[in-house]
Amino acid sequence: MNLVFLGPPGAGKGTQAGLVSEYFDIPHISSGDIFRKNIFTKTNLGKKAKEFIDKGVLVPDKITNTMVKLRLERNDCKDGFILDGYPRTVAQADFLSGITDISCVINFILSKEEIVKRISGRRTCKKCRKVYHVEFNPPDQKSVCDECAGELIQRSDESPEIIRKRLKEYKKKTAPLENYYKKEDLLVEMDASPSINEIFNDVKKILKKVSRL
Ligand code: AMP
Repeated sequence: MNLVFLGPPGAGKGTQAGLVSEYFDIPHISSGDIFRKNIFTKTNLGKKAKEFIDKGVLVPDKITNTMVKLRLERNDCKDGFILDGYPRTVAQADFLSGITDISCVINFILSKEEIVKRISGRRTCKKCRKVYHVEFNPPDQKSVCDECAGELIQRSDESPEIIRKRLKEYKKKTAPLENYYKKEDLLVEMDASPSINEIFNDVKKILKKVSRL
């Protein structure tokens, strides 16, 4: 099963991708996470990507496509994968269709108000990268990771101002992919406002059908 999870930042794609990855035993590939790892380890790719990410704009297609292609060529992707946060432009979607076939695209839908609330409350562990939310999923001890006692921080691109910029980018460059995949008859719409478990149950139902095709 080759899956694409589409939807604005904060819609919960990453959380659902993590659950699906465990349930169906296929890798969760988050382009944002790969960039962040590269920034953290100060690679050349990380240095290039950081200047765009910190401004809340997309990293150029060429850099992103090369990075994702290399990831998809790894052996663990041979039985399927979940792409989370990629493709984000029509040029990326065209590139992707040139290197692999996609089985299903799930589009996670959430209102702008809810997105800003979700993202601005997010806190990420500096050490193990585990993600919390100050209101919906707080750590036991304020600003300390339950798993590794690392410090919880707000990502540099999760301030309200940068979130608004990211949402604008989404509307302009990524939202056209909804029609793109609708035309290919691959798009499934998913309300992203219920609880994590409720959404996951719906996602599982859809993917069980897809995996039998
Ligand atoms: P995310 O964690 O998926 O929201 O990604 C964080 C940031 O990484 C985005 O705001 C972009 O700057 C960059 N990024 C992630 N995926 C892509 C992509 N497919 N194309 C371009 N930039 C991306």
